[in-house]
Amino acid sequence: MKRFLILAASLFAATTIFAQTQVIAHRGYHAKEGSAHNTISSLKNAQDLGTYGSECDVNETADGVLVVIHGPKHGKYNVQQTDFATLRAQALANGETLPTLDEYLAQAKKNTATKLIIEIKNHPTPEQEARVVKNVLAAVKKYKLRKDVEYIGFSRYVCDQLVKNGPKGTKVAYLNGNLTPEQCKERGYTGIDYNIGVMKKHPEWIKQCHDLGLTVNVWTVNDTDNLKWCIDNGVDYITTDNPVEANRLLGK
Ligand code: MG
Repeated sequence: MKRFLILAASLFAATTIFAQTQVIAHRGYHAKEGSAHNTISSLKNAQDLGTYGSECDVNETADGVLVVIHGPKHGKYNVQQTDFATLRAQALANGETLPTLDEYLAQAKKNTATKLIIEIKNHPTPEQEARVVKNVLAAVKKYKLRKDVEYIGFSRYVCDQLVKNGPKGTKVAYLNGNLTPEQCKERGYTGIDYNIGVMKKHPEWIKQCHDLGLTVNVWTVNDTDNLKWCIDNGVDYITTDNPVEANRLLGK
């Protein structure tokens, strides 16, 4: 009996540790002084802070270069309609250079304890989205980061292409909030990544996801009350501009 109780207690402890909410720095830990959204320094800051993940946004320029920037604009230019050299000549808000996906992956490779969460942005045609997915997967493979990268997207087509073309075990979470957990499971996605407003309307989706083996990520959660709501309701990942506060609430 005593042995059984010890076993039960350790299993419970393991489950509790496994179930603890993890923190993903939205566009990197950009709030740290001197940094900016989607910069190499914001990724490095997240790695130094030790967050579970660091999110970034990927767009394809008019001449086919994958760059890390939210878009749609960089200064006065539309990122997807402008060539790389023109975009690169414009400094980012903190003076850093607009990073390519390759440069971002090189930084990710320096500390794989923090996963890189790649958001592939919507592009105008299915052909273009398919090409972007193919090229992102190839770049991640080149850096041997397949186990250290997870993917998110608003476009169902992008997510479907990731499921279809990614190696076995590729993690894909859908962002747009308009599919039920069952529908995401049917499409082969491994999780949902929904806005906090959507999740508060559908808190039942958290348990439904877990019963289906899907993960639950919530964006972009910055204030203390909503961070607490996510932790109390057992979401797996919080995507936040405020990773330091999220860590504090988690006792990290
Ligand atoms: Mg994003």
